[in-house]
Amino acid sequence: LTEELKGLRDLPAETPDGFRVHLYANIGLLADIELSLAAGTEGVGLYRTELLFMVRDQFPTEEEQYAVYRKLLQAFTPSPVVLRVLDVGGDKFLPYFSIEEANPFLGWRGIRVILDHPEIFLTQVRASLRAAEGLSNLNLLFPMISAVSELEEALHIVRRAYEGLVEEGVRVTWPRVGVMIEVPAAVYQVEALARRVDFLSIGTNDLAQYLLAVDRSNERVAELYHSLHPAVLAAILTVVKAARRHHKPVSVCGEMAGEATAAILLLGMGIDNLSLTAGDLPRIKWIIRNFSQQYARELLARALREEKPEPIHKMLCEALDNFG
Ligand code: PEP
Ligand code: MG
Repeated sequence: LTEELKGLRDLPAETPDGFRVHLYANIGLLADIELSLAAGTEGVGLYRTELLFMVRDQFPTEEEQYAVYRKLLQAFTPSPVVLRVLDVGGDKFLPYFSIEEANPFLGWRGIRVILDHPEIFLTQVRASLRAAEGLSNLNLLFPMISAVSELEEALHIVRRAYEGLVEEGVRVTWPRVGVMIEVPAAVYQVEALARRVDFLSIGTNDLAQYLLAVDRSNERVAELYHSLHPAVLAAILTVVKAARRHHKPVSVCGEMAGEATAAILLLGMGIDNLSLTAGDLPRIKWIIRNFSQQYARELLARALREEKPEPIHKMLCEALDNFG
């Protein structure tokens, strides 16, 4: 099977009945580039820039960030790279930037932090736009959006960075911009968000955590965390349908995209892109190339009639087993 998976590298992720899914890699450090190219990725669906900030003892300068982003954009050009702006707080901390809160997952996280510190945000966007000079594969992604006004403020920062660089004579191009759908409020405002951006990316790790009120890192309640929970599936389906109405591409970039069982349901929903750890990519491609979208739709219809995660999981495992 391993040889068969390797042989898949240059084949498209397309179902036997002709539905094409794009498979992208989640990366955190430049060291991940080789691995994801070797796995046959079509680009980077989620570059978690916080890693670059976490391995230092102070904020990286614009020049330092520029050098890293430039390498990354060049390594993948002309394929897209989705650069997610700094997402700290929750369970991600910078050693030189203290956030002490009783409830970090409900506190100062993601976009909230960088909107309160526009100098950090602006520096990062400037570095990204400069790194994309002469290339056309930069996509910017905003984490933890829970209100339309936050998205508007974030877009305003991008506009400021862009105009500043134009004034300085840099040949910048306006990037594609997208929003993470990972807070329940964003699911219910997905139409308003979709209208303002070029693409949507569903962060199922946080979305499941917030929908189920289960801290994803707390052992004691880990059993309650189910990515196949009917409420999680309903939320994802709502987002996928809204994206389609607005003709905006939609991805799943949480761990769920790399789970064989869940991937079948996402295929049934008509997801455009999956972004996953390079190691999971060949297996998910194999599933896409072996399950027709028609069959995935049937399994999705059955899953949506269930009221608990366990029978959904069982049904999907059986479907996978029958495929060998
Ligand atoms: C997510 O929340 O699903 C996600 C992809 O972001 P992170 O895991 O980095 O919070
Ligand atoms: Mg997240």
